[in-house]
Amino acid sequence: MILRMTTDRDPLAECRAAYAREVNARFGPPDPAVEAAFAKVPREAFLGPPPWPFGSGGTASWSETSDPPSLYQDRLIALDRAKGINNGQPSLHAHCITALRLTRKDHVLHIGAGTGYYTAILAELAGSVDAYEIESALAARAAENLAPWPNVTVHAESATGRPLPDADAIYVSAGASHPGPYWLDALRDQGRLLFPLTGDEGWGGMLLVERRGSKFAARFVSDCSFINCAGLRDPVTAARLTEVFRGGGKEKVRSLTRKPPSGATVWFAGAGGMSEAVIVTVPLLNDTLEAPPPGRVRALKRHLVQSLRDLRVAKRPERLIQKATPEPSGFTATVLAAGCATCRGHCCKGGGDHAYIDERTMVRVRGDNPELDARAIIRLFLERLAPRSYQGSCLFHGPEGCTLGRPLRAELCNAYYCNGLQDFMKRAEVPEHVRIVAARNGMERRSAIMSRRGSRGGN
Ligand code: SF4
Ligand code: SF4
Repeated sequence: MILRMTTDRDPLAECRAAYAREVNARFGPPDPAVEAAFAKVPREAFLGPPPWPFGSGGTASWSETSDPPSLYQDRLIALDRAKGINNGQPSLHAHCITALRLTRKDHVLHIGAGTGYYTAILAELAGSVDAYEIESALAARAAENLAPWPNVTVHAESATGRPLPDADAIYVSAGASHPGPYWLDALRDQGRLLFPLTGDEGWGGMLLVERRGSKFAARFVSDCSFINCAGLRDPVTAARLTEVFRGGGKEKVRSLTRKPPSGATVWFAGAGGMSEAVIVTVPLLNDTLEAPPPGRVRALKRHLVQSLRDLRVAKRPERLIQKATPEPSGFTATVLAAGCATCRGHCCKGGGDHAYIDERTMVRVRGDNPELDARAIIRLFLERLAPRSYQGSCLFHGPEGCTLGRPLRAELCNAYYCNGLQDFMKRAEVPEHVRIVAARNGMERRSAIMSRRGSRGGN
């Protein structure tokens, strides 16, 4: 008699092992530990439900598959085709992760974690991983997918423009036109940073930077093509990088300095002091302008009348008075104004036909203008309507910002700052340079540079 028992063997294990061998051998002798990590982590667990769109690096043509074994080939899988976000080419990542020489003692930062597949591979090799993903939907998926790796913490936020935890290795999966100054600061001695240094057309090279005391050794480990890293794109630097990559010679790069000396040994000199700018990320409005629709003006007028009535019937009007928010001053005020100008007023979209005005606004306005009757107060507001305001937004929301002015605005408007501006205001020190980045869907679309010395530029 033969008694057989069931096994829980993963039916894809053999595919995965063959794939791990293939992608790890593509660019040179494989590292057995990296190959074992690729053989262990189930790629299908990070890609959502089928069908899965797949392509190969740089291609514009995509096909679809619902067959899990076909995920174990050296091709990229689209995570969000509209935004150009992919689960990248396995052989490139195998080669780069090998170059990081990770050990179980290492603390790793993975920047641009996507849905977490390569984070899981890093977690197989390192002691702990902090994974950063700016796209909140992807970060949520990464957190769920990475639950079996307790040594991973997922952060649904940007890893640019602010201090980061100390790290033995930083692996970046989004293209930057220059290394983030805080990335370099976070590297421990002997720490390795590997990131895609890319020009304005999205392609470039994977640059491995190793801290040696106060110096940085650097070399390119491969070519690459990546989507942009929001917050680390300088358009002028990126355009020049494209030209320099075309000119060749990157294989001779041996070091990186923050203030490069001039001379024949310099392969590329980037944005210099500008790369030290603190990044302030704000939302982006790109809507069209229109003359105020008469029906909306009538609705606003009715709302103002009602607010005055509500004030008239209030039992204790003095209790409605709100504490005024102090106006920011100095360089902070300049940065806040530049943030709103670069964003163009995303938060005002909620102002509708009411502009957040109510009896609490009216008690202040009446107190400031005791000589005006109710009709004159209404006129005061309506005279300030924007001649052209953003479609569907507050009727005071013009191309140059709010036309109402602080004394007539609701206190909510005077006190509101979005998360990016609040983070900037919380900084212990006011920085020398600030780069405002207005982004939508994680992609940089508009930026401005502010300097305490008064210079300003942008795109
Ligand atoms: S507070 Fe933020 S969201 Fe509102 S206009 Fe300014 S930058 Fe834009
Ligand atoms: S009143 Fe001004 S600040 Fe307030 S929502 Fe309207 S445009 Fe924006």
